[in-house]
Amino acid sequence: MTNDIASVSLPDGERIPKLGQGTWEMGEQPSRRAAEIAALRAGIELGMTLIDTAEMYGEGATETLLGEALAGLRERVFLVSKVYPHNAGRRAVQAACEQSLKRLKTEHLDLYLLHWRGSVPLAETVEGFEALRRAGKIRHWGVSNFDTDDMDELMSVPGGEACVTNQILYNVARRGPEFDLLPWLAEHKMPAMAYSPVDHARLPKRSPLDDIAAARGLSVFQVALAWVLQQPGVFAIPKAGRVEHVHDNFRALELKLSADECAAIDTYFKPPRSKRSLEML
Ligand code: NAP
Repeated sequence: MTNDIASVSLPDGERIPKLGQGTWEMGEQPSRRAAEIAALRAGIELGMTLIDTAEMYGEGATETLLGEALAGLRERVFLVSKVYPHNAGRRAVQAACEQSLKRLKTEHLDLYLLHWRGSVPLAETVEGFEALRRAGKIRHWGVSNFDTDDMDELMSVPGGEACVTNQILYNVARRGPEFDLLPWLAEHKMPAMAYSPVDHARLPKRSPLDDIAAARGLSVFQVALAWVLQQPGVFAIPKAGRVEHVHDNFRALELKLSADECAAIDTYFKPPRSKRSLEML
């Protein structure tokens, strides 16, 4: 039985877990395979049932590992994958999606994202996504690494308003989206999917996160993740290839940072006061 954890709403009202799991760099080292599968399955048991992957990761190897990890658990999971921009043409996206479905050993994706903007016109990609939706191959579609002007352009394309989310680099050390992109998404009732929520394990060596972590008996990773989870309209997909990290991340859901702790964080990791271009990892 899977736990019910905190959730956010997609624009159509469907609830999805606020804390999910990423998979980048999984399935690439045979020696790590068993631990990665165990970590993903442990996360699902805890209720972190939203799982993000991409055809790019390990050039399909990550989707293959995830397909294995989902054995017997697929129906509990909100499964997300991403298409390469060069595969995002009207017809190419059908073939790319079929390949992802095969590797993931599933009949459909819950969400399919354009990994980042490439040279294919957005109108074509939207047409391709909508055809996949009509065919029952995907339930929802969205984008990734789209800045505010890209979102505006997407809304001007026929069918563009069916986009349900934008997966972006957002964490305590990368707060640029707070200036205009997060407000834009909130206005359009689209939750933001925060990738690299613990900054790909590159958080600064010394910051107010250390004091908060020490006072709370937690790790800086847990504090950084709790900070992201505390932001309204944001859900997060930390990647953890070890069961102990999955348990630690799950516990971050319980941590509610106080106003003083948030203020200390703001003095070091300053909120943006002007537009910053969207960063990509
Ligand atoms: P991340 O989740 O911020 O960090 C992952 C790193 O942090 C791993 O080295 C992991 O170690 C470590 N870690 C996680 N939880 C920890 C904990 N509680 N204690 C200590 N270490 C911990 O970075 P990410 O993988 O870049 O981002 C997450 C997911 O977002 C990706 O896996 C991918 O699905 C997605 N993503 C999307 C894009 C995009 O362009 N759309 C870009 C980047 C990422 P272990 O693995 O050893 O546990």
